Amino acid sequence: MKIINKIDDCREEAGALIKKGVSIGLVPTMGYLHEGHMSLIRLAKKECERVIVSIFVNPSQFGPNEDFKKYPRDSRRDEKLSEEGGVDYIFRPAAEEMYRDRHSTYVEIEGLSKIMCGRFRPGHFRGVATIVLKLFNIITAQKAFFGRKDYQQLVIIKKMVSDLNIDMEIIGCPTIREKDGLAISSRNRYLDNEERHNAGIIYESLKIVGSGIVSENSDLDKLRRKAIKNLRGSKYIKRIDYFDIRDAETLEEIRDKGSKDILVATAVWIGNTRLIDNIVIEKGKQRQIDI
Ligand code: AMP
Repeated sequence: MKIINKIDDCREEAGALIKKGVSIGLVPTMGYLHEGHMSLIRLAKKECERVIVSIFVNPSQFGPNEDFKKYPRDSRRDEKLSEEGGVDYIFRPAAEEMYRDRHSTYVEIEGLSKIMCGRFRPGHFRGVATIVLKLFNIITAQKAFFGRKDYQQLVIIKKMVSDLNIDMEIIGCPTIREKDGLAISSRNRYLDNEERHNAGIIYESLKIVGSGIVSENSDLDKLRRKAIKNLRGSKYIKRIDYFDIRDAETLEEIRDKGSKDILVATAVWIGNTRLIDNIVIEKGKQRQIDI
C-alpha cells in the first residue's frame, strides 16, 4: 500500500493506472476509519482493480462553531485498517495542499444543499461538493463509493456529477449499523456510555415510520408525529433538527405514499453530539430496505 500526500504524485499514480487500462475505485473519507468505511472499501475492491482511499478532514465543510478541531483523527490506525482491507493507495493531503493560497472557487448545488442538513449547517454541502469535485479531478476513477448513511450527500454528489457531466459512476452503499441499530459514525465516539446506550432510539424512531408505511399505514404525518414523540420521550435527545419524510430520489417532501421510494431522515442531538440517520422504504417491493 502506498501513501501519497501530494496532488501531483496522486495524479501521476492514477494517470499511470488509467493509461494501462486498470480500473480505479475511489473511496473518499475523513479518516478515523470504521466498519462503515471498510464496507465501502470492500465494495470498491469487488468492482475495481485498484482502490484509492482519500483521507481528508475538509475544513470547508465545517461551520465556525462545529467540530473541525476535535474531529477524531488517527493516521496510524487508518493505515493499518486500510492495509488489512486491501487498499492500494491512501491519498492523505494536508489542508494547505488542497486549499492553496487564496482559494476562491466553490461548487454550489442549488436547492438540494439548502434543505435538511443544509438548513442547519449552512455552507456544509458547498464544502463537500467542492472537495469531492477536487478529488474527482485529481483521481479520475471509474467509480466512487459513498455511504447511504449520508443520504443527502449522496444525492447531492450524484446531482453534481450529472449537472457537470463528470464521467464517473457514483455507487451508493448500504448503511452499516451497530447491534442496536445505531448507524456507525466517527462521531459516535463523542457519546458517553449512557448516551451511547440510549442512541439506538434514533434508528428505532425511523423504523416506526418505516414499519407503519410497510404495514399499509398511509397517514405519513401521523407516523412522523409518532416517531418524533418517541424521540422526545428520551431525556438523551436534546434537540431534533429535523425529522423528514421525502421522495428518496428528488428529496421533495411528500404527504402521501404514492408509488415512490420514500426517504425517512433525521438529525438529532444526543447531548452535544449531532447524529444523522435515515432509512428508505422501497415502495414497489413493500419492504423496508436498510440503506
Ligand atoms: P466520513 O469519513 O464520515 O466522511 O465518511 C466517508 C464515507 O463513508 C461517506 O461516503 C459516508 O457516507 C460513508 N459512511 C460513513 N459511515 C457509514 C456507515 N455506517 N455505513 C456506510 N457508509 C458509511
